[in-house]
Amino acid sequence: MADRYPWEEEQSREQMVIRLSDNRDANVFDQLDPPDPELYLDCIHCGFCLPTCPTYLVLGNEMDSPRGRLTLIRAASEGNIAISDSFARHMDLCLLCRACETACPSGVKFGPLMETARGQIGRQHRYPPAEQRFRDVLLRTFTDLGRLRILVSLLRLYQRSGLQRLLRGSGLLSRLGRLGRMESLLPRVPAPRTCALPEVTPPKGERRGRVGLLLGCVQRYFFAHVNAATVRVLSENGYEVIAPQDQGCCGSLLVHEGEREQGKQLARQTIDCFEQANVDLIVVNAAGCGSAMKEYGELLHADPVYAERAKTFSRKVRDISELLAETPLRGALQPLGLTVTYHDACHLAHGQKIRREPRMLLKAIPGLQLVELKESDFCCGSAGTYNLRHPDLAQQLLDRKIERIKETGADIVVSGNLGCSLQIEKGLRERGLSIRVMHPVELLDTSCGDMKQPIKRTG
Ligand code: SF4
Ligand code: SF4
Repeated sequence: MADRYPWEEEQSREQMVIRLSDNRDANVFDQLDPPDPELYLDCIHCGFCLPTCPTYLVLGNEMDSPRGRLTLIRAASEGNIAISDSFARHMDLCLLCRACETACPSGVKFGPLMETARGQIGRQHRYPPAEQRFRDVLLRTFTDLGRLRILVSLLRLYQRSGLQRLLRGSGLLSRLGRLGRMESLLPRVPAPRTCALPEVTPPKGERRGRVGLLLGCVQRYFFAHVNAATVRVLSENGYEVIAPQDQGCCGSLLVHEGEREQGKQLARQTIDCFEQANVDLIVVNAAGCGSAMKEYGELLHADPVYAERAKTFSRKVRDISELLAETPLRGALQPLGLTVTYHDACHLAHGQKIRREPRMLLKAIPGLQLVELKESDFCCGSAGTYNLRHPDLAQQLLDRKIERIKETGADIVVSGNLGCSLQIEKGLRERGLSIRVMHPVELLDTSCGDMKQPIKRTG
């Protein structure tokens, strides 16, 4: 084995030299869920993943590429480097978009490797205090329904009192740093009573099955209309829909950020909840949540009580577009004279390999013209809390996405992930573009319905 790889010479910017050896005893990772050597040893260093990696394309640094990050993880695993600030930064800058997995001819499972590496960083490394606090507050708020409910009430008051209009008009938000950036992502907050869904919705026509619906955390408040549309379309297509009222967060955000132990706890609760609901399948309309739930089997593989149950659970998870594309749509769809384009959310396209199904559903709507988006599966910069923690890099990715969207001339951008929707809406608003962002199931619902509320362009 070569003592040093050629690309190590490129690291003059950081003077980072890594020597690989077989000294596994010196592993700097602890034994609580360390990165699995079987996964990083699959890498043959071909570099096919590099041109697909957004952080490599923007930063041009090998250590901010998939191959570089794998080298770092392996070097730490073999005791050749410590979990330093530099190590943590290269891992933290990864979007976990998983575009590298799609490109990789060796089938390297980059996602679980990065998540476990981040778990090690979380336990062994301290970010600067302000950064650590910000991260903690974000994760604890967005994954706790009680805290989220209070936040939503305050945000609704902020919007309805006119304060938001005042602040947005004043230009003050740009001086509020992170708070201002969070505000710029804020959609219209619906009244809490409109977010509630019945626990059981009966199927229409001949019954196709009984499905459970994940309501999500942020999704259930900020995108309650998408959940409601999902229930109507499923019912229209013969599914009895169970929306357990006691369900919590699925843990995807925590797992994404490397907080795997807390993520595992929420995964166990989600499994318990849907087992009790006794459903055939579990339907998800947020790509990030669906991707994580399909990987519960891997997340809980060492749990003696949940390992098998997690595998069974993961096999039952379906993205809404995946389920609806399995069988012909029911009912007469009304024409929608719209031009739309489709953004592939990373955790649908790369995480779940779902690309064809949402497009099939959109093409099934009469009168709707689907224009392909260039670089449709290139990350928009949302990536969990990435756009809040790395705003400059996220903005560059968003600008690129908005340019591509503009080129299509579409009235509507369709996205199957709420994080992407918020990020893209922000980009469109910043540029004063009158293009709406919608979930595929909203368009189907409109086409299924009585068209009392035709879709209008914004602006
Ligand atoms: S997950 Fe995305 S950002 Fe991270 S290394 Fe892979 S392609 Fe690059
Ligand atoms: S494409 Fe796969 S095998 Fe090739 S360098 Fe990237 S991760 Fe390694």
